[in-house]
Amino acid sequence: MSENATIAQIGAAIEAHQSFAVVSHVRPDGDAIGSILALGHALEQLGKSVRYLNEDGCPESLEFLPGSEKVEVSCSAQNVDVEVAIFLDTAAHSRVGEGSLKAVEGAKLLINIDHHISNPGYGDLNYIDGKSPATGQIIYDILTALDYPISEISRDSIYVATSTDTGSFQYPGTTRRTYEMAADLVSRGLNVGEINQLTYDNQPYRKVELMRSLLNTLDRSEDCKLVWWDLRESTKKELGLVDDDSEGMIDFIRAVRGVVVAVFFEELGGGKIRVSMRSKDPRINASEICGVFGGGGHALAAGIRMAGPLEEVRAKVLAEIRSAMKNAGL
Ligand code: 5GP
Ligand code: MN
Repeated sequence: MSENATIAQIGAAIEAHQSFAVVSHVRPDGDAIGSILALGHALEQLGKSVRYLNEDGCPESLEFLPGSEKVEVSCSAQNVDVEVAIFLDTAAHSRVGEGSLKAVEGAKLLINIDHHISNPGYGDLNYIDGKSPATGQIIYDILTALDYPISEISRDSIYVATSTDTGSFQYPGTTRRTYEMAADLVSRGLNVGEINQLTYDNQPYRKVELMRSLLNTLDRSEDCKLVWWDLRESTKKELGLVDDDSEGMIDFIRAVRGVVVAVFFEELGGGKIRVSMRSKDPRINASEICGVFGGGGHALAAGIRMAGPLEEVRAKVLAEIRSAMKNAGL
């Protein structure tokens, strides 16, 4: 892994340039969208010109974030003629998607800011903090260290980015600094009740229908430590689901008492399968297990995209997990 830049070097690169694209990973979550909005708006406050890019655009569930209307779908973004591309929350270069890579191919500097330990440091300047529970928290660290403005848009986006990536400030990666940051954001006028309601109590009805259908596929190992469910393309069509609808569903089975590993298998178009994995035990490293199949992520939350069919993927991935659990004495 290449060496990290200092925050001062990131600041110097920002100050030396005028036009920026902030970009995050395909199928964006709260941290991906929140981070580009938070940093992008701070850059705008500094007088820079900023394009906000995502391969899949802003999901409906995050459209409540002020500024989210500025997020462009990368392949339809015209004339993205920027000096600097900043990739955020993107563990691997290709994870921004082909349209995003093409849109920013003319940039002369690539800055990579992320919190995935597996990030190889593919940027010209890299700032990877594997101890930070969300890229949003790193943006907060950078903005405060450089004394850059934190507008209402940046404030709310940092909060949502961090809240969604920490399971509402619950996961073990949540640090004292995370709570101190949240307290500071509240001091800056953040409306906690309102933003949490918009983030968590605002689901489309079809997501509950999705839950019903997932529950019908629910299965577990004999010892009840491993639990999984499936989502078929036919179900997605039937319920009129969008990609973002399956985000976060795995938390429901992860939360079961006694469960050590939860897995979600989802059919994507083109015969591909998305695997989403959660571990509740530090002895079971989800990122390593997913790595066996070309995926990655964090120790307790990781994923894979691999060729189907679903039955085969499920058999292979569950076998790998069972073996990891056996090796760990579980
Ligand atoms: P999720 O299960 O919520 O989609 O993803 C959990 C974590 O695993 C995220 O941090 C995400 O970046 C990572 N992840 C998910 N899918 C993939 C994948 O296909 N490849 C890699 N390298 N990481 C993934
Ligand atoms: Mn993240």
